[in-house]
Amino acid sequence: MSMIVQQALTTDAANVSPAQALDRALRDASPAEVIETALKTVGREQLALVSSFGTESAALLKVMADVDPAIPVIFLDTGWLFEETLAYRDTLVAALGLRDVRSIKPLEEALSRQDPDRELWFSDPDACCRIRKVEPLARALKPFSAWINGRKRFQGGARAEISVVEDDGAKLKFNPFANVSREEIEAIYKLAKLPPHPLIASGYLSVGCMPCSSRTAPDEDARAGRWRGRQKTECGIHTMKTS
Ligand code: SF4
Repeated sequence: MSMIVQQALTTDAANVSPAQALDRALRDASPAEVIETALKTVGREQLALVSSFGTESAALLKVMADVDPAIPVIFLDTGWLFEETLAYRDTLVAALGLRDVRSIKPLEEALSRQDPDRELWFSDPDACCRIRKVEPLARALKPFSAWINGRKRFQGGARAEISVVEDDGAKLKFNPFANVSREEIEAIYKLAKLPPHPLIASGYLSVGCMPCSSRTAPDEDARAGRWRGRQKTECGIHTMKTS
């Protein structure tokens, strides 16, 4: 554990949770420092990064790879992803030298019981996300005590207030890009010459599952194309409580 974190945890032990103490210590830290601290705090065996291999994912994966390319990366292969996203995952694994990418699929039994006609995304998108994303991620995260993800405050909505470190129930959750601006993300792409997601050229600024992703107009937020026409703005993996 790093000195700065050890000090924070000791100083604040009586008043705040470990996540709050870490958040205070890392509030102004760079993304690399956040990942280094996560690694030192729980160790590589206990730490995973969750990535959608979407339009902004390469930046966080690049920062992680520079710290330690063997940190496990969990990728939710929902069964509804674009071929371009699956190809992009393979491109980034090779380009960044990622050594432990785990593609996680939903349970066949859950799909055949709850979504035999593959229409759940339309009739009940929350249930669809639950069996294709939330439950598979909860299973995949079981061996870990902390996870890293790429949410940013500039994405707005429920993400506008996220802290750098949270406690999502039983696990620490590190958000190294919480403070980072869109321009800083773009600078990481430019400096490292990261390949863009193939669908950006077709007008997708945010890419998830095929039925729930659409192109965005120039004056729209990047995530406006997700679950278009619905109240839904999050799939649920960032509101679930882990055990
Ligand atoms: S994003 Fe859409 S298709 Fe993907 S799991 Fe959620 S509801 Fe289903």
